[in-house]
Amino acid sequence: MKRVLILGGGFGGIAAAHRLKQKLGSEVEVILVDRRPYFMVGFRKSWALVGESPLEAGQKPIGSLSKIGVDVRRATIDAIHPQEKAATINGERIQADALIVALGSELFPQAVEGFKEHAFNVYDPEDIPRAEKAVADFKGGRVVIGIFGAPYKCSPAPYEMAILLNEKFKARGVKATLEVFSPQPKSLPILEQESCDSFESRLEEHAIKFHPNLKAKSIEAGRVIFENKQIEYDLLLGVPPHKAPTILKDSGLLGASGWIEINPRTTETSFDGVYAVGDVTQVILANKKPLPKAGLFAELMGETAAERIASVFSGETPEVTFSGEGGCYLEVGNGQALMVKGSFLAEPEPIVSLTSSSKQYFNEKIKFETDRLEKWFG
Ligand SMILES: Cc1cc2nc3c(=O)[nH]c(=O)nc-3n(C[C@H](O)[C@H](O)[C@H](O)COP(=O)(O)OP(=O)(O)OC[C@H]3O[C@@H](n4cnc5c(N)ncnc54)[C@H](O)[C@@H]3O)c2cc1C
Repeated sequence: MKRVLILGGGFGGIAAAHRLKQKLGSEVEVILVDRRPYFMVGFRKSWALVGESPLEAGQKPIGSLSKIGVDVRRATIDAIHPQEKAATINGERIQADALIVALGSELFPQAVEGFKEHAFNVYDPEDIPRAEKAVADFKGGRVVIGIFGAPYKCSPAPYEMAILLNEKFKARGVKATLEVFSPQPKSLPILEQESCDSFESRLEEHAIKFHPNLKAKSIEAGRVIFENKQIEYDLLLGVPPHKAPTILKDSGLLGASGWIEINPRTTETSFDGVYAVGDVTQVILANKKPLPKAGLFAELMGETAAERIASVFSGETPEVTFSGEGGCYLEVGNGQALMVKGSFLAEPEPIVSLTSSSKQYFNEKIKFETDRLEKWFG
């Protein structure tokens, strides 16, 4: 029997495992390895931060994929050997007929001096309870949301956090000013100038100040230090720099970008039978900007890799490709959301736009989570 080894059980890894079992059932052995015991969508962190809904309410045990025949191993991966389509897990070398690398991105707060001491890491589920408490106890003052590096997951998320926090503080009668800084020249660089301007006007309407082109050098108590500027804060919520997981460093899989550079349509790496999907990859679009790191794209890539592997195992020519179509929801308060969506792999330019906001998009966002939990975990 053919064996597929999937490294990482987030959006990409789970979608791939699920699709392989759908296509090939008991004709394929699927081993999925992750050190984390549960799956959870990324935006749960925003909801938990503002006290809307706890993280636990959206967590499902990855181990329950065994119900559809996936061999789930809870372990830390020690080494990856792409030439052999193999990995070492808990000292055991596991050889496969196809390997899917779906390890996501690693948060790297250590890259910024003072981050650990002074900022709340709002991208780390482990730090969310502390951040949630700080928000709940906040009596007023200057709240700064800092983006400390790019690329980072779900580009709209820090702005969404600012909007939701602003709404919560207002409801509680807390006098807070909100600011977001970013090293990027625009809030959402994937959008055309007009759409980006319209989004930044929306931030202004919420009295959220946006500072572009600010790359932090370090953090001290009460202030973030930049090259020629400082921003003072009473509460600092940080999105740390991201990097490819350390385990990939000596694997030979990383390209010059520091991420795995794949064929965007097929998700193939430069190693035969080795695929990479999701946040661990770098896909450069026709406008030279990177494909945003998003759960939906990780999922679609995971399904693409699975479909293609299933075709190869069945002696057929793989035809399914990654479309690059879709987007992310962005809550804008008052029970409404909008979408940043489009056709990201379109030529000669990606076609990406900002929709208007509506209650319907907010409902779709909620459904985005429930649909996946239902589909994958029953
Ligand atoms: C606040 C926030 C809001 C977001 N909102 C959205 C949204 O609205 N829509 C959207 O599409 N996306 C959203 N995202 C982004 C989304 O969560 C990520 O893009 C998505 O999780 C990427 O999926 P992935 O499978 O590539 O990686 P991940 O989901 O990160 O999975 C990687 C897995 O690999 C495991 N792993 C890594 N290294 C090892 C190792 N050495 N050993 C064992 N296991 C390992 C990890 O434990 C992890 O489970 C949001 C993210 C955040 C932080």
